[in-house]
Amino acid sequence: MTLDAALIPNLPGALCQETDPELFFSESGGPIHPAVQVCHRCPVEHACLLWALEKRERFGIWGGMWAHHRTRLLTRLDREGITPADWQRTEAEAEVRAATSLAAARAARRAQQEELWAREAAEQLAAEQEAARAAERAAEQEQRATIIRETVTAFWDAANA
Ligand code: SF4
Repeated sequence: MTLDAALIPNLPGALCQETDPELFFSESGGPIHPAVQVCHRCPVEHACLLWALEKRERFGIWGGMWAHHRTRLLTRLDREGITPADWQRTEAEAEVRAATSLAAARAARRAQQEELWAREAAEQLAAEQEAARAAERAAEQEQRATIIRETVTAFWDAANA
């Protein structure tokens, strides 16, 4: 079953055209969440919501917003003298700003993490190099001690011969 064509904003790609219309009308007493989920996946969600706001559609869920929510929003917009189109543009700009600052925050966190990893790797390399130098020094000292021991032994043997 498809929605009544007269009620559909005739937007190409509208997902509700392939969905049970009962889902989009809370008047039937069903839960609104499944319809809102469909709208959030719909490629024409923003255009659909603008259509419903401008048409002052009093029933059903359009563009992911149910009638009660739209009425409250329109009351506020009327009071503030803002058109639905201007409201939607401002919302979209705010979303872009939020997404941009979120992306920047993520990039900064990633850069911090990479810097930390680089510092840890450098510290580990330095520790390994220091350990290698210490092992080299210990081997040299051992070699020197062996030479001294052998020299003393040879000297002692010569003295007692
Ligand atoms: S946003 Fe929702 S109501 Fe609007 S066209 Fe898409 S699925 Fe249908």
